[in-house]
Amino acid sequence: MLLTLAALAPNAAAEHPLAPLAMREAIATDWHTSDSMHRVLLAANRAAEAESRDRADRPAAPPEPTRRITYRVHGGDNWDRIARRHGATRDQLRLWNPQIPRVFTGGDELSIWVPHHFQPLPETGLGLDRDETGLSLLAVPAAGESRGRPSRGRLSHGVRLPDNPALYLVRRPDFAYGSSHTISNLQLALAKFRMTSAFTGPLVVSDMSQRRGRRFGSHSSHQSGRDVDIWLPMTDEALDEREARPLPGHRIVYKRLAPERAHEIDWRATLALVKALIRTGEVQYIFLSRARQRHLYRAARAEGMPKQVLREVFQYPRRGKYGIVRHVPRHHKHIHVRFRCASHERTCY
Ligand SMILES: [Zn+2]
Repeated sequence: MLLTLAALAPNAAAEHPLAPLAMREAIATDWHTSDSMHRVLLAANRAAEAESRDRADRPAAPPEPTRRITYRVHGGDNWDRIARRHGATRDQLRLWNPQIPRVFTGGDELSIWVPHHFQPLPETGLGLDRDETGLSLLAVPAAGESRGRPSRGRLSHGVRLPDNPALYLVRRPDFAYGSSHTISNLQLALAKFRMTSAFTGPLVVSDMSQRRGRRFGSHSSHQSGRDVDIWLPMTDEALDEREARPLPGHRIVYKRLAPERAHEIDWRATLALVKALIRTGEVQYIFLSRARQRHLYRAARAEGMPKQVLREVFQYPRRGKYGIVRHVPRHHKHIHVRFRCASHERTCY
C-alpha cells in the first residue's frame, strides 16, 4: 500500500509516503516559549492589547496562542514575500530576526511567530513558486475548522475559496466555504493540475459548504467544510459545440459547463485532476458514479498506471469498500471530493 501510493506521489518524502505534507506537522512541534524573540512578541501583543482596550468599547479578544516556526530562506525569497506568506509584516520579520542581514546570504533561517494553528501554504516538494508561475495560490486564513461529520456537522470560521480564475471558476460563492485545511489543499491540487495537464478550459468548482456549515440544498453531506464538488472538465469539441467558454465581459453560463454525456468529458484531464488531488495526501474519497468510473479507469490504464496503483485508486471494477474513487449515484457530471480532517481538528470525524 505504502509503496504504490508513493509511486503515484513521487514527490512525497520516502518516509512519509502517505503524508507528503507531514513537513507541516514536523514544523508544528518546533516551538519554544522561553525564546527572547517570543518575549519581544509578547511585549508587542501586550502593547496592542492595551491599545485596543483604550479605544474599544467591547472587551479585547484574548490573544491567539502563537508558536515559532523556523523558515529556511530559498533563492528568490525576499522579506516581503516571506512576510506575506506567513501573515506577518516585513517589520515584524526584521524585529524577530535582528541577526539576519538585510540582504540574504544563502541558507539563512528565520524565526517566525505564527498563530498556533497556522498552516503555511503547502509548497514542499512540489516545485511551485506562487509568485512566479502565475498559478498563484492565495493565502488562507488558519482559523477554519471542521466540526463533526460531513453528514452531520458544521464549520467554524469557514474560509471562502478565493477567486482565482487562472485556476478555477467559483460557481456559487455563498456555498464555497471550507476548512482551512480543505481550502489549502484544494488550491494546491488545482494549481498542480494546471501545471501537469494540457487542459486549458474552464474548471468549475461548484458546491462546497456554507460559511457556518450545516445542511443545505439537496446535499446530505457538505456540512463540515470538507466536501467539494468539481464539474468534470470538458473536451475542446464539447466546449466549442456548446459555446461554453466564458467570454470576457459576459456572464458565465454555468449550465453549459456541466457535461451531460460521457463523450463530452475530457477523461485525460479528469485523470490528471484526480491524481493531483490524491497527491496532496489529504483526500479521503472521490465520489463518481460507476458508469463514469469506467471511462476514468480506461484513461488510467491507457496512461500505463501500474495495476497495483489502479487497485488502490479505483473501486472499479469491483464493488464494495475499495479504493479512493468510489461509486455514489448521481455523480456523473461532477466529482465530489472529500478531504480528510486536519490533525489539529479534534472534533472532526
Ligand atoms: Zn457533492
